[in-house]
Amino acid sequence: MLQRTLTGLPKITLQKPQHECGIFGVYFPGEDVSRLTFYGLYALQHRGQESVGIAVSKNAKIKAHKKMGFVREFFDQDITRLKGDIAVGHTRYSNTGGSSLINAQPAIYGNIAIAENGNLVNPEALRRKLAKFGYHPSYDKNGKCSSDGELIAQAIHSQKGDGIVEKIKNAAARDLKGAYSLTILADNALIGVKDPLGFWPLCLGKLNNKGYALASESCALDVIGAKYLRELEPGEVLTIDKNGTRSHFLPNTPKRQSARCSFDINYFLRPDSLLATGARAYEVREKLGQVLARKNRLDADVVIEIPNSGQFGAIGYAQASGIPLKVGFIKNSYIGRTFISPDQRIRQLGVKLKLNPIPRVIAGKKIILVDDSIVRGTSSRQITEQLFKIGAKEVHWRSTFPQVTNPCFFGIDIGTNDELISASKTPRQVAKELGATSVVFNTLEDFLEAVGLNPKTACTGCITGVYPINLPHRERNKFALEVAE
Ligand code: SF4
Repeated sequence: MLQRTLTGLPKITLQKPQHECGIFGVYFPGEDVSRLTFYGLYALQHRGQESVGIAVSKNAKIKAHKKMGFVREFFDQDITRLKGDIAVGHTRYSNTGGSSLINAQPAIYGNIAIAENGNLVNPEALRRKLAKFGYHPSYDKNGKCSSDGELIAQAIHSQKGDGIVEKIKNAAARDLKGAYSLTILADNALIGVKDPLGFWPLCLGKLNNKGYALASESCALDVIGAKYLRELEPGEVLTIDKNGTRSHFLPNTPKRQSARCSFDINYFLRPDSLLATGARAYEVREKLGQVLARKNRLDADVVIEIPNSGQFGAIGYAQASGIPLKVGFIKNSYIGRTFISPDQRIRQLGVKLKLNPIPRVIAGKKIILVDDSIVRGTSSRQITEQLFKIGAKEVHWRSTFPQVTNPCFFGIDIGTNDELISASKTPRQVAKELGATSVVFNTLEDFLEAVGLNPKTACTGCITGVYPINLPHRERNKFALEVAE
């Protein structure tokens, strides 16, 4: 993707799809809950790098601190100031609302603090409804808050009901349409919530028989020494307080249907995180690589991973095909998501800065490149060109995820139809567009079988165009709430 920057220089974005958040929560009276949350968020950094925040509660009084940037921006004194018995934390990628401190979470309204992962599909209508009851977005020098988190906190706060669980249930039934996992501080309790279809992960862990933690992924539980207990169920509202844990369910939870995000499993989960099936994400990705190799036999000299997204797929592919796996690129891990290229002539530098190919592994070889997905195709095209330039004989792309043909409305920044390379192309046409010898994607059926899901338990909207939630509108604009009244 080539855009103009404010300085007029072209800006190259080497983009993988972005997620929008990692959430965490801990109930552990008498312990340093803000520090535990800090370490938990560190392990969830891959889910969002734009802002970080922690809220703690002591005797139902909430205190919070938020910063722009990585989790490491939190200093020791920031953590030390946050004393409490319960905490929730958040790392953000802005899927709804701009990247500014006012949109950083946890969002706080009254005596409720919320860390949210996901996307509402009705935010404008909900804001208009809440405005009628006197709920308006908060403001700071950056403008008005436009994240879903505050909206959800206000929607819960506005409900009539006996206690926080009733209010959450009522808000979910009346107001919250979309995909969300939440960690909430309210009423001296830590509460975990999954939307009725359970799009996003949220798991429960136990600390030393006294405390509990909730996290987007089990890797965050591992880091703080919590024992993984289980994944929350779709529609579950789990309260954790002095009486222990108790499960409730949202009234609009369907009986035999859920919509776990397929893409999250394929790409976003840290490889060492657990799925609800008990498998680790890396095991599933290896299997996806094996399926690709078995179903599409091809003679080649070498299998190469696209670091690091294709790592385990490539391992699986090499295992099943018997073709040697080699390191074909050196990755510069210190590069952010975007950077500026001074002119068109050196656009290729962009890819090279991030991934520098090793000529000896590539020259004169038939190469199989394995990646988790080919979504926009921007960097795949540039990589293909580079490899042929340094003497590759053939370049075959293999994607563990099926063709992405439609946008996501539930929390992953995949892009619009115009940006998706597969929106209207066959794999053969995608290969032509990339300048590659061939491109093969796993089929939807093979993918679901390998990850342990089926069409009744997975969201496959971006693959099939059939979404598990009725969408009020299909225009995707993450800044919609910044203009809505
Ligand atoms: S549309 Fe795709 S990316 Fe979005 S939730 Fe569904 S499977 Fe995940």
